[in-house]
Amino acid sequence: MSISAYDPNNIFAKILKGDIPSVKLYEDADTLAFMDVMPQAPGHLLVIPKQGSRNLLDADPAVLVKLMPVVQKLARAAKEAFDADGVFVAQFNEPAAGQTVFHLHFHVIPRHDGLPLKPHSGGMEDIEVLKANAEKIKAVL
Ligand code: AMP
Repeated sequence: MSISAYDPNNIFAKILKGDIPSVKLYEDADTLAFMDVMPQAPGHLLVIPKQGSRNLLDADPAVLVKLMPVVQKLARAAKEAFDADGVFVAQFNEPAAGQTVFHLHFHVIPRHDGLPLKPHSGGMEDIEVLKANAEKIKAVL
């Protein structure tokens, strides 16, 4: 199996370095969670490890051990904050699987019965809407 190299100049690495802004939700020594700028539903957020890996395929299992409890914490919070019926958790590996940003991340998307998801990497959301949705999630964290 060949695994492509991690590019430390990817956009999420720049968010981690503070070189570009993000609407942050949660941060600890190993993990960051922030709002997706092109949400597929209100409350769509991303959870990323601070240690760089391209995706799940090259990730250190020790990183995943620390990451997954945060994915669970944010999934629970997003479901409660948006009074959702369920939560979609997704993670894509390589372009063939839909990956567009090459720093491991988990999508967390509140789902409501009968409401379809918007397209992946669709339109940019208004920053004030993202901030308001982030406040709802932070209020239950
Ligand atoms: P993926 O296809 O899993 O690699 O998805 C990457 C996700 O990152 C998409 O849902 C994008 O909307 C999102 N995204 C891209 N750039 C940014 C950014 N600067 N801040 C927050 N989310 C982003």
